[in-house]
Amino acid sequence: MTIDVAIVGGGPAGAALATYLARGGREVVVLERAPEYRWRAGGVFTSPATVAALRRLGLADDVLGTIARPVPAMRVETPRGVTFRLTYGDDGSLAAPAVGLDRAILDPMLLELASEAGADVRRGVTVTRVVPTAAGRPFEIGLSGPAADGRTELARVVVGADGIRSQVAQSLGVARPARFIARTALTYHLADPAPDGPRDARMRILQDGYVGVAPVPRGRVNVGIVLGRTWRSALHAEGAAELVARIVRAIPATRDDPATWRTGELCDAVVGAAPVGHRVTRRAGPDWFLVGDAAGFLDPFTGEGIHRALVSAELAADAVDGLLAGRRSAARAAQAYEDAMRARFRAKDWVSLLVQAFLGRPALFEYAARRLAVRPGPRETMGLVMGDLIRAERGLDPRFLAALLAP
Ligand SMILES: Cc1cc2nc3c(=O)[nH]c(=O)nc-3n(C[C@H](O)[C@H](O)[C@H](O)COP(=O)(O)OP(=O)(O)OC[C@H]3O[C@@H](n4cnc5c(N)ncnc54)[C@H](O)[C@@H]3O)c2cc1C
Repeated sequence: MTIDVAIVGGGPAGAALATYLARGGREVVVLERAPEYRWRAGGVFTSPATVAALRRLGLADDVLGTIARPVPAMRVETPRGVTFRLTYGDDGSLAAPAVGLDRAILDPMLLELASEAGADVRRGVTVTRVVPTAAGRPFEIGLSGPAADGRTELARVVVGADGIRSQVAQSLGVARPARFIARTALTYHLADPAPDGPRDARMRILQDGYVGVAPVPRGRVNVGIVLGRTWRSALHAEGAAELVARIVRAIPATRDDPATWRTGELCDAVVGAAPVGHRVTRRAGPDWFLVGDAAGFLDPFTGEGIHRALVSAELAADAVDGLLAGRRSAARAAQAYEDAMRARFRAKDWVSLLVQAFLGRPALFEYAARRLAVRPGPRETMGLVMGDLIRAERGLDPRFLAALLAP
């Protein structure tokens, strides 16, 4: 039997796409490797644009209140002590703030949403390969894992939603090495002894790396650390747990953050990913699509992964539906998705690359940070661009760059 749509990976991108397609009456199977949710390297801090995308998916405000902790601002702190706050368009009222997400609740909830919409969610099934049989014929999908019924499935349309090491992208020959190949990401949660009230997230720039700390629901903070090549020997010598503890201990208390969480109880294992980035030469082809991180992911610094996962699912749902309904040929459906993704994210990709270029040159980053700290206009624009709240082209506009960088 041939499935209409097989979605490989049940993270936010795969679950959201399955929900949209199943609600439209499509036959969808989600193949998810993990038999049950487990904490893995991933992000929690995200802009109000993600909250809006979760609402569009059908999450009610009372549900969002349990999985998303309001965060008034992201405070960026440089090694030389410059600090600036990005408020992501919130005016201090917390009417539409950035949030720290509880992924341990959100991810299973999104998969449940997909099941309720009618998708067949199969956990504990790892996809080992995806092989196009012939033009216009179904894909053969290789399976393994405790819940794999057989060794293969046939699917008319395949979607890779399987994250930064996408097996689907590799099988289809479009995966490329990450741009910043030597980066390692480590992440975990600590209990927050003072969990009440709103508190800024913090992004401390290190030499050749950075550490982000974001308050999340259930009285915890999430720590995410990204380290470049020069940290490799320390990582090997000390081990991940010791190294992250040392980095976290060195984060200073501030006037509004006594940082008592630094010595909080460890809530889960320190998990890692290396290299963190992922690139593809194409995001879609005849009868196949890549969504979320599988379609490319640069670096967690600009904090856009979860938002992009949800928006790419919306765009792919439209393209796949057009294909299955016969409104578009396989080639046109693939092109429609590519075009939609490019229109939505190309400028943001350039902004993210620009930010990476500054991060890679500490003196330049300090220079820009000093200006952002004292120039409210460019700072506000920067927050809105980083949060996907205005067109990212604004972040590339020469007038914005001049206002930001002029001495
Ligand atoms: C350290 C770190 C920090 C980050 N910080 C942020 C942040 O602050 N803000 C932000 O927005 N984003 C951040 N991100 C990115 C964010 O986590 C991702 O963009 C988001 O999780 C993407 O969702 P996804 O559904 O595409 O992929 P994932 O969440 O990775 O889900 C992929 C799913 O596919 C499954 N899978 C993988 N391979 C297979 C296979 N072969 N067969 C079957 N199933 C498979 C996995 O088990 C997983 O469930 C960060 C990422 C990292 C690594």
